Amino acid sequence: MKNQKPQAVICTPQATLKQAVEFHGHLGPYLVLGLLAGLEAVRALGCKKHFGIRVRVWGADKRPKSCLIDGLQLATGATFGKGNIKKISSSGIRIEVKDCINNKQVVLLPRRALIGRLSRANTHALAEKLAKEIYKSDIKKLFNLKRE
Ligand SMILES: [Zn+2]
Repeated sequence: MKNQKPQAVICTPQATLKQAVEFHGHLGPYLVLGLLAGLEAVRALGCKKHFGIRVRVWGADKRPKSCLIDGLQLATGATFGKGNIKKISSSGIRIEVKDCINNKQVVLLPRRALIGRLSRANTHALAEKLAKEIYKSDIKKLFNLKRE
């Protein structure tokens, strides 16, 4: 399943993390989470970035949680400029990515252990350290992914 698509179709996290930090301005855990969640959603759906994709994100109202949105935009190509990403106010993080070609979607919910780690990273130094740890983590340990 994992290697069905040629690698060129999908951006690698390595290439995209550098872009993300340049675009966003700093390295933070939520930026990395948005990036990894977006890449995983695109991979799981097998859909094209930029067009024919719709992203909805809950619970990314304020910084630092809203940093998630920049990672998602870069990884999915859904942008506020194109109007295919939407931010919805909520107490909990939920990410939905829909392939508009076939109406299939994936939902990503952060795992409880991740939420605990995020809340403990309450200084700049800890947040940056956590961002690096998250970046090296297995996505399945970070998010629960459901197909709908
Ligand atoms: Zn940020």
